[in-house]
Amino acid sequence: MPDFVSLTCPGCGTRLTVPNEIERFACGSCGIELVVRRGGGIVSLAPAPTPELPAVPQEVLDGTAVELAVHRLQDEIPLLEKQVRSLTPEKGRGFSTPLFIIASMGLLVSIFLLMFHDLLLYSILGLAASGVIFFFGEKLLRKEDQKYRDKLDQFNQTEEVVRLNQKKQELAVYREKLRLFRSKATSE
Ligand SMILES: [Zn+2]
Repeated sequence: MPDFVSLTCPGCGTRLTVPNEIERFACGSCGIELVVRRGGGIVSLAPAPTPELPAVPQEVLDGTAVELAVHRLQDEIPLLEKQVRSLTPEKGRGFSTPLFIIASMGLLVSIFLLMFHDLLLYSILGLAASGVIFFFGEKLLRKEDQKYRDKLDQFNQTEEVVRLNQKKQELAVYREKLRLFRSKATSE
C-alpha cells in the first residue's frame, strides 16, 4: 500500500497527492479547505465544513421578534386611531333639541297664563300646543337616536375600525407574550 493517494480537488479539479497521515488540508491550487474521508476501502476529498456559528436560542429569537412586533404595533395603532377618529360619526343635534326648548318655553308661558283666570283659554291652548310639540320632539329624538346608532354600526364595520381592533388585540397578545418571556428570562 502506497503511503499517499492521488485525488482530485473538488474545488478546482487539480490532481493532489495526499499523504496517508493527512486528514485535513488546503488545496495548494485554489486554497479550499478539504477533509480526507477514508472508509470502505476508498479515500475521497470533501470541502471541510465551515465552523458553524453558535446558534441563537429560539427563545431569544422569539423574544426579539415579539419585541419588534410590539414596537411595530405601537407605531401603527396611533396612526390608525387618528384615521378612525376622523371617520367617527358625530352625534348631530338635529331638530329635536330646539323642539324641546320651544315646548318647555310654551309650557312655562302656559303655566304663567294659568294664573290669570281670564286667560284660561290661552293657557289651555298653550298647554295643548306644548304637549303636541313635546310629543313630536320625542318622536324626532328617537328617530335621530336610531339614525345615529345605525351610523355607529356602519362605522364599527368599516375596514379601518376592524383593522384597528385587530391590531389592538394583537398588541395585547404580543405584550402578554413579551411579559411571559421576560419573566422567564429573569427567573433563569
Ligand atoms: Zn483546489
